[in-house]
Amino acid sequence: SSPAPRRAIRELPDELISQIAAGEVVERPASVVRELVDNALDAGATQIQVKLMAGGVRAIVVEDDGLGIPSEELPLALRRHATSKIRSLEELEAVGTMGFRGEALAAIASVSEMAIASRSEGAAHAHRIDARSGELAPAARARGTSVEVRELFFSTPARRKFLKTDATELAHCVEAVRRHALARPDVGFAVWHEGKLVEQWRAGTAEQRVADVLGQEFVAESREVAGGAGPLRIHGRAGLPEASRSRADMQYVYVNGRFVRDKLINHGVRSAYEDVLHGHRQPCYLLFLEIDPSLVDVNVHPTKIEVRFRDGRELHQRVRYAVQDALAVSRAAEAVTANS
Ligand code: ADP
Ligand code: MG
Repeated sequence: SSPAPRRAIRELPDELISQIAAGEVVERPASVVRELVDNALDAGATQIQVKLMAGGVRAIVVEDDGLGIPSEELPLALRRHATSKIRSLEELEAVGTMGFRGEALAAIASVSEMAIASRSEGAAHAHRIDARSGELAPAARARGTSVEVRELFFSTPARRKFLKTDATELAHCVEAVRRHALARPDVGFAVWHEGKLVEQWRAGTAEQRVADVLGQEFVAESREVAGGAGPLRIHGRAGLPEASRSRADMQYVYVNGRFVRDKLINHGVRSAYEDVLHGHRQPCYLLFLEIDPSLVDVNVHPTKIEVRFRDGRELHQRVRYAVQDALAVSRAAEAVTANS
């Protein structure tokens, strides 16, 4: 057969570019929840409500009491590569916000029916923008922002087909909020599904938040981690061997406040358990790493769930020692109790 005739190079239409980008950022309803809660936190929210319908597929509404968006900037918030969070490469390298790529809202809008209602400080009232039409209208709400995302993947049936049951999608959405909640005990979170409150974590101390989110049992069966020094500090809790599970579903690692999945860190933790955990048992842990921003690159993946470290070996060791120390303290304490 003869080869297909050559087709001319064309620039893709804007909408399609966003839909392609959305493929990386928006995998399922929980990805939308993650991005919208990131934005609420970046806006300084102290209370965040997540309201879901049909596991988030029908609707995801995230409401915050943050700084809001002035009406004249609402159209810009929906534009690709438009952000209030960085202005230069220097600012990117020292970024302290969850967001900085300016693409989440544009990506989500390209695969859903989206609207944003927001009121900024000093505004006479709120404004609501419909993402599809760009229409801007007056609205009523207190200071802060509500983002509504309806009919996710309605225009991309291939994606929609990969969605699981509503119950499974809901569980992923709740997990997305749980990850944020563990990192931000100072912020109150509530998750609603079909009008019913499914989770609520009130603002309070870090200790209280861990107990509220991971359970009193985890607190009782874990020890405090406090290690590292200087540009790399580690704190959190490491579960005792008896708190181990058959699945790796209670392993939370944060780098500078951002939830990450990192093989190197997980391996470092795992190696701390090598003498006390056997077979396929999975340790439970909650670790917060505070690293000098110049030693870690967060701009590796569109979802930012992966990061890259300048000195992986050093990091691996520090993590291992910090967790080992926590577990050793517990063994020493147990030995004392056993002997008394
Ligand atoms: P990024 O978070 O990377 O900047 P987004 O597409 O998520 O990109 O958001 C675009 C911009 O819209 C943000 O930079 C911010 O200025 C504004 N924004 C989005 N969500 C909120 C919110 N909940 N409160 C205040 N401003 C918001
Ligand atoms: Mg964002």
